Amino acid sequence: MAPEVQACPASVLAMDRDDPLAEYRLAFELPAEVAYFDGNSLGALPRVARERVSRAVELEWGQSLVGGWNEHDWIGLAQATGEKIAPLLGADAGQVLVTDSISVNLFKLICAALQMRPGRTRILTDALNFPTDQYIVQGVAELLGPTRVDLEPLPVGEIPAALDETVALVLLSHVDYRSGQVHDMRTLTAAAHASGALVLWDLAHSAGALQLTLDADQVDLAVGCGYKFLNGGPGAPAFVYVATRHQAQVQQPLQGWMGHAQPFAFDASYRPAAGVQRFASGTPPILSLTALHAAVQVFDGVDMQQLREKSMALGVLCQQLIQARDSLQKLTMASPLEPAARGSQLSYRHPAAYEICQALISHDVVADFRSPDILRIGFAPLYLRFADVWRLVDTLDRVVSAGEYLNPEFKARQRVT
Ligand SMILES: *Cc1c(COP(=O)(O)O)cnc(C)c1O
Repeated sequence: MAPEVQACPASVLAMDRDDPLAEYRLAFELPAEVAYFDGNSLGALPRVARERVSRAVELEWGQSLVGGWNEHDWIGLAQATGEKIAPLLGADAGQVLVTDSISVNLFKLICAALQMRPGRTRILTDALNFPTDQYIVQGVAELLGPTRVDLEPLPVGEIPAALDETVALVLLSHVDYRSGQVHDMRTLTAAAHASGALVLWDLAHSAGALQLTLDADQVDLAVGCGYKFLNGGPGAPAFVYVATRHQAQVQQPLQGWMGHAQPFAFDASYRPAAGVQRFASGTPPILSLTALHAAVQVFDGVDMQQLREKSMALGVLCQQLIQARDSLQKLTMASPLEPAARGSQLSYRHPAAYEICQALISHDVVADFRSPDILRIGFAPLYLRFADVWRLVDTLDRVVSAGEYLNPEFKARQRVT
């Protein structure tokens, strides 16, 4: 028999009452019945994004037509959005541009790094890195061949010892998408620099959730995601960060007209734009950019330290509540125990993680599954409540202890899992 639905305890309700960020939830449109723990896969819809996109469609595109590029400064929107993201990264102005996807930007930046370190061939990467990061760097290695690229996937802990004067680039994700482990950006960057290598950080699970200090950490290059914690909408464009000190000499291979010094001169030969703008390639997706630009505005006035504290507190509460339920002892923690060592998520291993996740979703509690056996619970601190965490654990308890997840309907895998 499944245990009864329990009322959320007063102590948890008090955490919401005392939450200095509680009012930010009102900035989002969330279905009333849903508790949403997948903001690390697709962020929720900011109300201002809905308004601005509909205005961009109706008035800007509909009325201004091609004149919108000037009248509504569509042409400057990718850079303007980059400038709004920069403070969330601990980056001064002029270093962040919104463009393309993380995958495409990785290609640009990996090639750029190799060109900045001629004579060096090794690229050290995290052997557990997100698949697209591995695939893109493998593609670069195949394209340029073994005389130019020698790719070495390693456990992150072995990277410092593998560094020497043959390493061109260290490519890492700041937060491991599976376990949520946070890698030490400052220390690993300093270690890479001590051997003369460059670093390229993937901030997919960091931007908008963690306190970042890219400039102070002397990061060279970074990429990040628009549709996860930044809430830019499905398929929102990504961003690149290129430290000012590299901008004068850096080149990238996808040198399209939007990265040209004068796109509308229609010159036959390429001359890179000044600064980070040269990382643009083709025409930016204005409707998606409009949504992302509006979404990032929601962060105006948010103290990132406070945000990080709330994200850790949500994780701690979730971990404690799970630990306290007898039925959930078969879920094994796959994230670091120390809250500061994990990003804005908790991951648990279970042989039936997929089915458990589907059963949760049938109760409007949305988490996600990562192959082969991870139940991933993401905490988007701008709109999650502590009471939502209570509901997640209470629902998890009922789904698991009653064996509800064994129902065959939860086995069928969809195209997106
Ligand atoms: C989500 C994610 C991506 C996504 O890449 P896109 O090309 O923008 O789809 C890349 N890297 C990591 C670590 C991710 O978590």
